Amino acid sequence: MRLQGRAALITGASRGIGRAIARRFAAEGCNVALNYVSEAGRDNAAEAEALAAEVRGLGRKALCLEADVTDFAAVQAMVAAAVEALGGLHILVNNAGITRDRTLRKLSPEDWQAVLDVNLTGAFNCAKAVLEPMLEQGYGRIISLASVVGLMGNFGQANYAASKAGLTGFSKSLAREVARKGVTVNCIAPGFIDTEMTRAIPQDVIPQILAQIPMGAMGTVEDVANAALFLASEEAGYITGQVLSVNGGMYM
Ligand code: NAP
Repeated sequence: MRLQGRAALITGASRGIGRAIARRFAAEGCNVALNYVSEAGRDNAAEAEALAAEVRGLGRKALCLEADVTDFAAVQAMVAAAVEALGGLHILVNNAGITRDRTLRKLSPEDWQAVLDVNLTGAFNCAKAVLEPMLEQGYGRIISLASVVGLMGNFGQANYAASKAGLTGFSKSLAREVARKGVTVNCIAPGFIDTEMTRAIPQDVIPQILAQIPMGAMGTVEDVANAALFLASEEAGYITGQVLSVNGGMYM
C-alpha cells in the first residue's frame, strides 16, 4: 500500500496508459479522480464509470470528472471538485494526449495547434490548478507523460515531439519553483507502448519500430504504470525535475 490515503487526479483516464495508472494507484491504496472527455463515437463516460466501479470495489473512493484539459475554466472546476470529493489532492498525472501525425510539408496550422493545446497547454492548465492546494498542504507529486519522441524526434511527428519536449522543459522549470515546498515534478518518457495510440500505426511500420528497440518488443501499459507509481510514492521523495524513460532501451 504505497499510496495509502493519497488522492490522485489522472487525466485521460478512461483508457490506455491513464486507465492502467489509475488501476495501479488504486491497488496501492489511492483514491482517484478519473478525468475523461466526451468524444463523438465513444462512450468515455461509461468507460470511466466502469473503471470507477472497479476502483470502488477495491475499497477506494473514485469519481469521474468530465473536462477537456484545454479548457482552463473547466480544469479549475474539475480540480475543485476533486479536492472537495477526495478531501485534498496529492498527485496529478498529466496523461491526456493526442497525435496528429503528418510530415511538416503536410502539417496544417490546426494539426500543429491541436496537439500543442492538449499535450502542453493541457498540462499547464492542470498543473496550475493543482498547485495552490499542493503548496498549501506542503506536499505534491506532478507527473507528466512525455515521450521518447520528445527526446529523439520522429518522422512525421514535429507537432507531437515539440509538445513532449515542451512538457519536459515545463516540468523542469516548475520543479525548480516548488522544490522547497514538498512538491516534486517529473516526467515519464515512454517508448512504444501497446495502446490505441500505437495501434493506429500502419502494420508495415511495426517491424521497423521493433528493430529500434533493444528489448525487441513494445512496452505494456503496466510498465508505464509501475514507473508512475514509483514517482508518486514516498520512495521518490528526493527525485524531481527528472525524465524517467520506459522504453526497452530504445533511447539511452
Ligand atoms: P490513448 O489510448 O490515445 O489515450 C489518450 C487519452 O487522453 C484518452 O483517454 C483521451 O480521451 C484523452 N484525451 C485526449 N484529449 C483530451 C482532452 N482534450 N482532455 C482530456 N482528455 C483527453 O493514449 P495512450 O497511449 O494511453 O497515451 C497516454 C499518454 O502517454 C499520452 O500523453 C501519450 O502521448 C503518452 N505516450 C504514449 C505512448 C504510447 O506508445 N502509447 C508513448 C509515449 C507517450 P478520449 O478517449 O476522449 O480520446
